Amino acid sequence: MKKIYFDYAATTPCDPQVLAAMEPYFFNKFGNASSLHIYGQEAKGAIEESREKLAAFIGAKPEEIVFTSGGTESDNYAILGSAHALEKKGNHIITSVIEHHAVSEPLKFLAKQGFSVTYLPVNKFGLVAVDDLKKAITPKTILVSIMHANNEIGTLQPIAELGKVVKEKGICFHSDAVQTLGHLPLKVDELQVDLLSLSAHKFYGPKGVGALYIRRGTRLETFLRGGDQEKGRRASTLNTTGIVGLGAAIALCEKNMAKEIKFQTALRDKLIKEIPLVIPEVVLNGHATLRLPNNVNFSIKYIEGESMLLSLDMLGIACSTGSACTSSSLEPSHVLLAIGLNHETAHGSLRITLGRWTKESEIDYLLEKLPLVVGKLRAMSPLYEKK
Ligand SMILES: *Cc1c(COP(=O)(O)O)cnc(C)c1O
Repeated sequence: MKKIYFDYAATTPCDPQVLAAMEPYFFNKFGNASSLHIYGQEAKGAIEESREKLAAFIGAKPEEIVFTSGGTESDNYAILGSAHALEKKGNHIITSVIEHHAVSEPLKFLAKQGFSVTYLPVNKFGLVAVDDLKKAITPKTILVSIMHANNEIGTLQPIAELGKVVKEKGICFHSDAVQTLGHLPLKVDELQVDLLSLSAHKFYGPKGVGALYIRRGTRLETFLRGGDQEKGRRASTLNTTGIVGLGAAIALCEKNMAKEIKFQTALRDKLIKEIPLVIPEVVLNGHATLRLPNNVNFSIKYIEGESMLLSLDMLGIACSTGSACTSSSLEPSHVLLAIGLNHETAHGSLRITLGRWTKESEIDYLLEKLPLVVGKLRAMSPLYEKK
């Protein structure tokens, strides 16, 4: 059966070249990077090479990079670490209503400990307003955390402008760039961020490894305590294979990025243009141009996202939806509600995310099958009938 992957925002395959770079570090070069002998030094050398590659890619210094277990740990470290390091200065934190749970859950946890959190709204495109940020800042504000690109609707925030406001006040600025890194050029000085989270499995590296950029001089309470790895900033034996994979993945992104942006943007815009031509009553979620090159998100009215996903899955097409009718909740995505969709429209959302191996023929297959799936589901939908 055909198998087409349109869920690159959830995770990407590990590029075979990344896999090849990692392979020697599982057996031949398996040393612990903290060991003084040749085995340890080989591992350490490879790790430092990855650190330099990543630092150069984001315009940082190698000593400003700490390797972590992924995006979630980087976000938790940034938020809990800075809140606790700065709590004598103040207890107020500003974020947005559309953050990933890896940011919003640690903030909820801090709120229970007496921190006060302001959630900035977004407009219908999912954009935070610079003026709203200005108004929200108080003398007690110690941290601002706003994501670079949204994982559901692909909206790119004006991080450089927001960063300017935050830094004029001398406040710590964190951004979750997990969706952006490797997909768009990004330099920490242009964005004026102090902390930046990233994760290798979102840019063709392995799962379970990521990094936190920590600008020199940023106060951060240590998150994982134990050995003195990463200059005491993150204990635990370094994940040599993962870190080598992360470095190799960065090198490939650097090499391919211009070409990939062009190709994916063209396919994205083809879907954005043609889906409304073949399916009536759809709404594009997110912004037409201020969005990730690989993200398409539509609400398809009168049907339920999960039924659509399952029908597409039976045709070998893997997409995603923001209608989480999972056991735990019947609430549609907080992002779709935040951009002003009603519950019904939010429930019918379809996220199509493209990547390195997406082919134009796959886009055409989707454009052929999706109207059939939607037609069938609408024919059964009491909502559609009532119209
Ligand atoms: C995937 C993702 C994360 C979590 O990263 P993991 O490496 O899977 O822990 C955090 N933030 C955003 C925006 C993401 O897309």
